[in-house]
Amino acid sequence: MQSNVRVQQQEGADIELLSVKQLKQRYPWMNTSGLAGGALGVSGEGWLDAYGMMQGMRRKAIALGATYCSASVAGLLHEGDTIKGVSLCNGEQVHASTVINAAGTGAKTLSASVGIELPVESRKRSVFYFKSPAALKNCPMVIDPSGAYFRPEGEGFITGISPEVDDDPECYDYDVQHELFENLLWPLLAERVPGFEALRLQRSWAGHYDMNLIDQNVIIGEHPAIKNLLFANGFSGHGMQQAPAVGRALSELIVYHAFKTLDLSRLGWNRIIEQRPLIEQNVV
Ligand SMILES: Cc1cc2nc3c(=O)[nH]c(=O)nc-3n(C[C@H](O)[C@H](O)[C@H](O)COP(=O)(O)OP(=O)(O)OC[C@H]3O[C@@H](n4cnc5c(N)ncnc54)[C@H](O)[C@@H]3O)c2cc1C
Repeated sequence: MQSNVRVQQQEGADIELLSVKQLKQRYPWMNTSGLAGGALGVSGEGWLDAYGMMQGMRRKAIALGATYCSASVAGLLHEGDTIKGVSLCNGEQVHASTVINAAGTGAKTLSASVGIELPVESRKRSVFYFKSPAALKNCPMVIDPSGAYFRPEGEGFITGISPEVDDDPECYDYDVQHELFENLLWPLLAERVPGFEALRLQRSWAGHYDMNLIDQNVIIGEHPAIKNLLFANGFSGHGMQQAPAVGRALSELIVYHAFKTLDLSRLGWNRIIEQRPLIEQNVV
């Protein structure tokens, strides 16, 4: 945590390391036992509605001249090692000088159609919305050392936790893992915030991480085996916060064939091919 905070501060983020005493002063509702400290974004931080953000980006792109076409991509068209476009499930073909595989959990299948093995699998994550009689003043998004997280949402809170590794198969269904809440989350939440003992679960839903099995980071850019096919896959649960930067990086790759504003080459295919993982330590 200390080294992460150093990196974030060097990049201009307003992050503070808090001692246990400071945590207790700032958040009297928190049980700090078992904690050595905490890192907090003091300003320029927050959370947002991912669907709203996506729609905002979509509308802006349309206003700038982008055309959206609603259809599933059935396969990638290529001649030798050069991509030529995509074929759609309705039988149409779209020809293009560059194609981006941004298909989330559908990306592995598309890659396989041109013989590229993308080390990305679909992993289900359940989210639970609850209300609590306890008022948590100034509650930030809290990530517990156990991996459980919670944050305010409307009049209540949302929370979640990753399942154990051997209870986390490749999965495409949307059945909520209720046992995670009952057996794991609730006891952890009540331990960290005693006021959560009396919480009331209201709603729940499930989505999927496009999990990069090698290092839980995005794979961005071209694969050496095929030209003009760009990848942006394997976000492993943190793709929304990276989306604006990744979109800009992809547009730079298309226009300049190089990264211009942020050099993201460490996140390219080479590290996967050469087995030099860039492990992400902080996946919730
Ligand atoms: C429960 C949950 C909580 C999360 N919380 C956070 C968070 O706090 N912060 C954060 O940064 N990120 C978070 N994420 C991760 C974030 O949502 C993803 O990283 C991000 O959505 C990935 O964006 P994407 O565009 O690559 O893929 P997606 O958003 O999955 O979009 C891919 C799109 O491609 C479409 N598609 C797939 N196959 C095809 C095909 N063959 N033809 C045409 N279209 C296809 C899909 O239908 C989908 O619309 C969370 C994810 C989940 C599930």
